[in-house]
Formats: sequence, structure tokens, C-alpha cells
Amino acid sequence: MSTHAPGAQLVALPATLDEAVAALADNPAAVPVAGGTDLMAGVNAGMLRPAALVGLGRLAELRGWAYQDGHALLGACLTHARMSRPDFSALIPALATAARAAGPPQVRNAGTLGGNIISAAPSGDTLPVLAALEATLLVAAPDGEGRQIPVSHLLAGRDRLNPGELLAHVRVPLLHAPQTFLKATARTGPSRALASVAVVLDPLRREVRCAVGAVAPMPLRPLDAERWVASLVDWDGQRGLAPEALAAFGDYVGMACIPDPRPAGDGGEPAQLAPAVLHLRRTVAALARRGLGRALR
Ligand SMILES: Cc1cc2nc3c(=O)[nH]c(=O)nc-3n(C[C@H](O)[C@H](O)[C@H](O)COP(=O)(O)OP(=O)(O)OC[C@H]3O[C@@H](n4cnc5c(N)ncnc54)[C@H](O)[C@@H]3O)c2cc1C
Repeated sequence: MSTHAPGAQLVALPATLDEAVAALADNPAAVPVAGGTDLMAGVNAGMLRPAALVGLGRLAELRGWAYQDGHALLGACLTHARMSRPDFSALIPALATAARAAGPPQVRNAGTLGGNIISAAPSGDTLPVLAALEATLLVAAPDGEGRQIPVSHLLAGRDRLNPGELLAHVRVPLLHAPQTFLKATARTGPSRALASVAVVLDPLRREVRCAVGAVAPMPLRPLDAERWVASLVDWDGQRGLAPEALAAFGDYVGMACIPDPRPAGDGGEPAQLAPAVLHLRRTVAALARRGLGRALR
């Protein structure tokens, strides 16, 4: 991917995170660019006109991961292609599956975890996984202080990066338990999600965590459905659930994430769901049922 936006000057190609933060501090109008797959699409569509760019492509320290207190510290410049590989898949299986689904190969070779998060497109494939994992974003700031943001706060717009700040790492708990990511698309082959579901088992906390992507501006957590199904799981024995329980979980998730526009009991019949919305709800239900079934297998 080219990182040259028409009219934009590539002001810096820093080799370290400190240099990158300093380059942004020196030029407040500059915008960071990692793989450029989202940024350049915006420029080419005439929606973005960055005055200057700071390229993150040489930041080797952000292209891998490290271990810290039962967590993985993922570099923001990890590409989808790198996260697709078996060693990463053994670490965080659902994130690896999401990375494998994130567009065609040339996009996965360039596109990064950090870019996926900061773009925060509803169809971003890593986002429901990070929401289900309750990941934390580690932000580097010009004053050297840095700060942490729960991923859900950033995606909900409750917190955002300030000018000059860079997303450096993503801290993800290593749960050592099955987790799944499933995505429904409108056509075969690589394309954006119509709906996606991440399911994560957390045996230590005896939790099932689920997040639904692409059906709303940010991933949705059906918390009541999570708690209900976690209470059915025999955490110390065979974890499997009966098909009826899996189906009920799927329906619960579908209803929670795509609710009726007017619930019964407000003085009239509930409004009919449009066929397309009903189809989407059924799709979410099927993904949640299958995702949990595979995780508990
Ligand atoms: C053809 C095509 C198909 C695609 N299909 C999918 C798909 O199926 N699923 C999917 O999830 N995505 C898809 N994408 C979107 C895109 O590839 C991903 O969102 C990718 O992860 C973006 O990463 P990037 O490094 O290219 O981001 P960039 O384009 O470099 O940056 C995106 C935004 O993030 C900011 N940014 C990047 N890194 C940082 C950082 N470390 N700190 C602060 N800000 C930062 C940039 O300033 C910019 O605002 C597709 C894109 C294309 C072009």
C-alpha cells in the first residue's frame, strides 16, 4: 500500500515509538499511518485530506508481542497476516480467526490491529473479539506519561486519542480456554461482515463472554444472555450444553442485540420486524449458537 496521500507530506518515518510520538508532537497537523488500508481509502474517496503523515511502518517494537502478568501485550502495528499465523492462533485463537477474515490477502498483509481499532468501523473484525476479551489499550503520549483506555470506552466514543497520542499496545488476557469468532458476509470470498460474533470462555471467572459485531456502531455485549448461559455450564466437568440450551442462547443473543422496536406491554402489539432485520437477528442467533457450541465442544 502506498502511504502518499495527494497533497500530504510524509514528515517522518520514525524507527522507535519515542521518535514517532516526538514527530507527532513536532507537527500537530500530522496523522499517523500504519498499513494505510483505511486511511488511503478515505483519501482516495476525497473524505480525508491529511496535511502531513507520520509513517509507523518501521516501528519494529510494535510489530510483535510480549507476555506480562498473564496477559499478552500486542503491538499496535501487528498485521492481520502476522496474527493469522499458528503461533499467534495458539495464544489468542479468536483474534487469529478474526485476522484471517479481515479482507483479501493484500489488505491483511498491510492492515494492522491498531488501524482496525482506531478506524473503529462497525464491521471491524477484531473489535468484537477485543470487546469479549475486555482488552485494554495502552496509549503513548508526548509527555511520556501514557495512559490506558478500556477498548469498550474507545469504541463507544466515551474516550478517544488526543492529538499527538499513539496507540502503542493492546493488553489482552491469556485465558487458556476455547474461544471462537464467526462472521457472516453477503457473498463468498473476503468481504465485510454483515454480522459477527466472538465467544470467549473464562474458566477462572466462570464466565462466558460474547460480543456481536457489525449490527451497531460498536460491538454489543448481551450481558444477561452471557450470565444466563454461564450458569448452565458445568465448569468442573463436561462443559458441553444440550442443543436446546445452545439454541436458546443464540435466540437470547439475537433478541438482545436486535430488539423489537416496540416491546409488548406498552399498550399495543409489538411492531413487526422488517424481513431484513428479522434475517439479521436470525443470523446473529445462528452465529452465537454455533460459536458457543464450538467453544464448549
Ligand atoms: C479492500 C479492503 C477490504 C477490507 N476488508 C476488511 C474486513 O473484511 N474486515 C476488517 O476488519 N477490515 C477490513 N478492511 C479495513 C482495514 O484493512 C482494517 O481496518 C485495517 O486493520 C486498518 O489498519 P491499517 O494499518 O491499514 O490502518 P491505517 O489505514 O494506517 O489507519 C487507519 C486509522 O488509524 C489511525 N492509526 C493507525 N495506527 C495507529 C496507531 N498505532 N495509533 C493511533 N492511530 C493509528 C490512522 O491515523 C487512521 O486514522 C478492509 C480494507 C480494504 C481496503
